[in-house]
Amino acid sequence: MPVLVMKFGGTSVATLDRIRRAAKRVGVEVAKGYDVIVIVSAMSGETNKLVGYVEETSPLFDAREYDAVVSSGENVTAGLMALTLQEMDVPARSWQGWQVPLMTTSAHSAARIVDIPTENITRKFGEGMKVAVVAGFQGLSPEGRITTLGRGGSDTTAVAFAAAFGAERCDIYTDVDGVYTTDPRICENARKLDKIAFEEMLELASLGAKVLQTRSVELAMRYKVKLRVLSSFEEQSDEAGTLVCDEEEIMELNVVSGVAHSRDEAKMTLFSVADRPGIAAAIFSPLSEAGINVDMIVQNISEDGRTDMTFSCPTNQVKRAEEALKKAQDSGEINFHNLLADTNVAKISVVGIGMRSHTGVAAKMFKVLSQEGINIKVITTSEIKISVLVDRKYMELAVQALHDAFELEKAA
Ligand code: ADP
Ligand code: ASP
Ligand code: MG
Repeated sequence: MPVLVMKFGGTSVATLDRIRRAAKRVGVEVAKGYDVIVIVSAMSGETNKLVGYVEETSPLFDAREYDAVVSSGENVTAGLMALTLQEMDVPARSWQGWQVPLMTTSAHSAARIVDIPTENITRKFGEGMKVAVVAGFQGLSPEGRITTLGRGGSDTTAVAFAAAFGAERCDIYTDVDGVYTTDPRICENARKLDKIAFEEMLELASLGAKVLQTRSVELAMRYKVKLRVLSSFEEQSDEAGTLVCDEEEIMELNVVSGVAHSRDEAKMTLFSVADRPGIAAAIFSPLSEAGINVDMIVQNISEDGRTDMTFSCPTNQVKRAEEALKKAQDSGEINFHNLLADTNVAKISVVGIGMRSHTGVAAKMFKVLSQEGINIKVITTSEIKISVLVDRKYMELAVQALHDAFELEKAA
């Protein structure tokens, strides 16, 4: 039997009613003759609640216990989905990550998938089971502890299962009907894309478009998984949603194809650092050892042998970053006068493969922001994206203005 992977995100399993609706969709695919692997997220809001419990109990928590707690939301929905399918006379059972076992690295809260043995589930399909419901987001470390794959990680579970089982397609059911030129919740003339290239989706995801977890796009690209994003709230045809595919499959490429935003970015500045060879290494080595994901970096021109160093990192890593830098200060590895964390910023990015061959995108972006009176704090660029850090209060305005200026509401 051909295998199909269907992933349902938090809002798609938020209530028993929605689980029933999702199960009906699964039933339709079973009736077509597929063996279906369903990946479920926790009910929406559940993971945030669990993360809150952990942070309140222990601000600099043991990541192994964090994973033990936050992975639990998916256990509930996996069991409920299996029960709902059984009630519909569809043979189904649930699997938690450790039962598969979905093996990961030991990097708790951001583990990577290492192996998905297929024997157990394949044997069950052979015995007449029609649907394997797998709890997304969770796995097992070599030490035998429960791990999680980072926020949004159920997308990655889904794509990894699709690759391991050679699935015909991996359908990601969510609360929007596809991938848009920008977040449709903050820009009302955002346009749904029929297709988007892996590279562009990868950039958009890593820059904050949480519709797909970055790692899931990487895996789909590497293992050539046919990946589709579609709505769980509407009746769907086989062509619905957005297909994430190779660049060659897309006829018209826009210079800019999307705008992404992220609230989860903080700006940290070390004021008056002694400027000497090796200073960047002395600052960023302890940060890397502490597992901080540093993104943008700016070093000011030095004066009197001292300089300011600014970098950005995820908001929830600020405490750890501060701790690592203060420790380096105490041990004499670095010497700064002051350390400031600004969490009132947002990162805005424009993305497009066409930037490889077109100039002027950065200039246009900066001009648009300046016309809106938005001050740019930090800039980074790569081959197909330009990102800026701005005051959080300008986030929506910046997204809307850039979407308008690059005319993303119009197809190429
Ligand atoms: P799920 O719970 O199904 O995994 P998520 O909340 O993780 O859903 O992702 C879907 C959300 O992603 C949408 O509700 C939308 O607000 C947001 N989003 C951000 N950027 C985009 C984009 N470019 N296209 C579509 N959705 C986007
Ligand atoms: N429940 C997890 C989260 O909210 C994983 C997921 O939904 O993909 O991050
Ligand atoms: Mg998600």
